[in-house]
This record gives sequence, C-alpha cells and structure tokens, in this order.
Amino acid sequence: MSTEYEAVIGLEIHVQLSTKTKMFCGCELSFGDDANVHTCPVCLALPGVLPAPNRTAFEYALKIGAALDCELSSFNSFDRKNYFYPDNPKAYQITQAVNPFAVNGKLGEVRIHHAHLEEDAAKTIHTGGAGRIQGSDASLVDFNRGGTPLVEIVTEPDLHSGAQVREWGQLLRATIKQLGVSDVNMEEGSLRCDANVSIRPAGSSELGTKTEMKNMNSFRFIERGIDAEIARQKALVEAGEPVVQETLHFDPSTGELHSLRSKEEAHDYRYLPEPDLVPVVPTQAMLDEARNSLPELPAARAARYEEIGVSEQAALLLSFETDWAEYFEGVLAAKKGVDPRVAANWVTGELSAELRKQDEQPLAETKVEPAALATLIGLVAEKKISHGAGKTVLEEMVASGADPETVVADKGLEQISDSGELEKIVIQAIEDNPKPSEQVRSGNEKAIGALVGAVMKATQGRADGGEVNRLLRQHLGL
Ligand code: ADP
Ligand code: ZN
Ligand code: MG
Repeated sequence: MSTEYEAVIGLEIHVQLSTKTKMFCGCELSFGDDANVHTCPVCLALPGVLPAPNRTAFEYALKIGAALDCELSSFNSFDRKNYFYPDNPKAYQITQAVNPFAVNGKLGEVRIHHAHLEEDAAKTIHTGGAGRIQGSDASLVDFNRGGTPLVEIVTEPDLHSGAQVREWGQLLRATIKQLGVSDVNMEEGSLRCDANVSIRPAGSSELGTKTEMKNMNSFRFIERGIDAEIARQKALVEAGEPVVQETLHFDPSTGELHSLRSKEEAHDYRYLPEPDLVPVVPTQAMLDEARNSLPELPAARAARYEEIGVSEQAALLLSFETDWAEYFEGVLAAKKGVDPRVAANWVTGELSAELRKQDEQPLAETKVEPAALATLIGLVAEKKISHGAGKTVLEEMVASGADPETVVADKGLEQISDSGELEKIVIQAIEDNPKPSEQVRSGNEKAIGALVGAVMKATQGRADGGEVNRLLRQHLGL
C-alpha cells in the first residue's frame, strides 16, 4: 500500500499600513507618484540621521494584533536585520526580531505565531532593454516606498491545501480591510504573501523539509502555486529523492516553479538590537483602545448571519464586503418577517447579478433602495408574483429605480391565483405538446420541463412553479 501524504503550510504575510507618513521619517506615503519625490535624509540613509517611530503605525499595528486575537506586548523593541541590496540604502532593515508587538493569536482555524512591525524596502525596477542608454538593461530604484510601515504576520503551520490557503487568505484580507489600516491590495503590493510548504506522511506530527514560495499577487495564484509545489514534493518523495530547502517562484502563466535560491545561499542577517531607537512601551490606554475600537469582524459577522439562517456561502460573501452587509441589513430592517436566508440570496444572487449585467453598476450607486428590494421579496414570498416575475421586476428596478408594486401593476405580472384558470392553461399545454406529454406518461419524468416551459410561456411567467408542477402531474396521471 502506498503512503498517503499530508501537506503542511505556514504563511508569512506582509501588510503595508496606510499611514500618512513613513515608519521612521515624515515623508508622505504614496502610490503611483513620480519616482523619488518622497524621500529625505532618514529614508535615504544619509550619515548622521536618526529614525523616530510613527505613532499611528503602532496604533494600526495594535489593531491588527487585536483583530487576530493576539496577546499585545507592552514592551516592543527594534533590531537591525543586515543585508546589502540596492533597494536598502542603510544595508540593514529595522524590524522587530525579539520583542514583536503581538504574539499567540488565532484567526479562524489558523494560529498566529506573532506579528511584528518593520519598514519596507524601496522598489527596484528592471527596465529590460529600455534603459537610459538605448537598448540597454538597467535597474532603477524608486525610494518612495522605502520606509513604508509594514506589519508582518507569521502563522503557525496550520494550513493543509492551496484552497484552504486561498480561503483563509481572503478572510485575513477582509478582516484587515475592515480595520481601515491598509488597502490590502495584492496587485499594488500592499498585501504580500509568502507560503512555506512541506509534506509528511499523513498522521505524522513531525515536520518535513519546507520550501518557501515568494510573493504572488493573488490568492488564486498562491493556491495554484502551492498545489503545484505539493505535487512536486510528493513526486520527489515517491521517487526516493529528498526535498531540498530552497526559495521558489511560481510562474502562473506557465504553471512552473523556479528556484530563486537554495539554503546554502541563504542570508545570515546578523540581527543586532537597533541602537538608534529606545524600546517602545505602549500605554495601557493604547492597548485598550486597540481592542475596544474593533468593528464587528468578518468571521463574527458570518457566524451571526449563519445563525439567523443565511447560507454559508451568502454569509461569507456579505461579511467580506461591508457595503453588501449593510445593504442586506437594510433589507431586513425595512420589512418585518422577511426571511434572512431568502433576503441574503436575493442580495448576493439576483441583485448582484443584475447590477453586473447592467453596466457593472457598483452597489453604492444602485437606484434600488433596500426597502424596495424588501417589498419585492415580500411580493414573491406572499406568492403575489412568481419568482421568475420577481426577476423581471428587479431588472426594471435596477434600470429605472421603479417601485416594485408599480412595475407589477404596469406589466400585469400578478400571479395567476385562480387555480381554475391555471388548470385550463395546463390542460391546453398538455394537448398542444403531445410528444413530451407521452414521454412523461411513459415514465420519462424529465420531459415535464418542456410542459412547464409551455405553461410559463402562455402565462408570461405569472404562474406559481410549484402549482404548475402539481397540476401537470395530476393531469398526466403521475
Ligand atoms: P525559518 O526559521 O525558516 O524562518 P520559521 O520557523 O521562522 O522558519 O517559520 C517561518 C514560517 O514557516 C512560519 O509561517 C511557519 O509556520 C512555517 N513553517 C515552519 N516550518 C515549516 C514546515 N516544516 N512546513 C511548512 N511550514 C513551515
Ligand atoms: Zn523620509
Ligand atoms: Mg523565521
């Protein structure tokens, strides 16, 4: 019997904080400005300058720590992580290697080892043949990003598949977004995720040798990269070859993994306590403020929605986007007795699809008030109109902001409630469609769809689907 393997994954996530200024100087943070316009002697590492920590960065970091259910440290210190690189003019990065601001947290089913504050490197741009000397390759450095406050979140190795990493990553991103402390935009690099991947025989508690996959700009790519790496490691182990510790890059366009550097080339960072900064000791008031200022977070909101009957999928969709959640709650508030499960499905299903269909309208600009949608949901629930007619009404509401009851009256969409009238239409449909009728009678129940379609066409969607089915079956002798 062949051995079953289990994948083990731990993440290191960098979050750029959206403070007004950099971590240790007063330069403005910007994205997309001309290169090297937001620099000063501190972030360019000119001789004789001193860093000063950004208080807002600490406040934002503490919020992240609180949201991740961490113990918040009352003693923070900084260390130098030494490495030479053109994007790092000091030849060291200031980070928290020993006393980070937060430890021992949890988000969903994943434990957080710790979270620490540090400064971002500048940005290197490789011109690929478009250098200043025509046709030459050049590497340019933009120091605008250098010194941006970063929070690095390090998880325990509690994840086990690419899909789980994507789902958890989306929860983490939604959680931080809710705090208003970062743009968490992966394409712009304000959220970056490295994945450490190993495999081990299922049931074992020892950790295998890990590889590290760098910086991918979407959770979909990370999922694919991780799955490719798990497959690669399984193939190695099954062929009796060792997994080598190395840093990898996943190319989403080819699905291939490339080695960036092996363990032998790994950095020795020679950490040492940062002599230019005294330890930072947040006051009890700052720690309390971080916890007390937390809004309802996506995981808690999703759980609350599921408790009132909303499907898991709709609960997650709503909780990850606060404007959708607020809209949904507006629908519930507008009408007593509206079923939350049904309302959530209308908001995340029909309404969302109709907005997309009509020029990708953003929710914030829709003419459909939550109360109007609540009225529409009521009309369907009370069987005044069919579900199909409800969609027709919604289409008109999205297009013009019309009142649902007016649309129903204008278009004559009231459900046929006279069962005698509906019965006549059903009998007619059976007569007009002898072929499917015969098929149903001889046992092919699926053929009933054609007859339902005929009745719906004859009634312009004004018939109750359940009732149509019941009458058809009755008259076909099922
Ligand atoms: P390193 O010393 O190589 O930096 P750490 O112990 O600091 O490793 O862990 C870095 C990240 O790698 C953490 O997210 C951790 O959960 C994860 N990790 C550590 N060992 C493994 C392993 N064997 N397999 C998968 N992930 C791991
Ligand atoms: Zn500066
Ligand atoms: Mg480490």
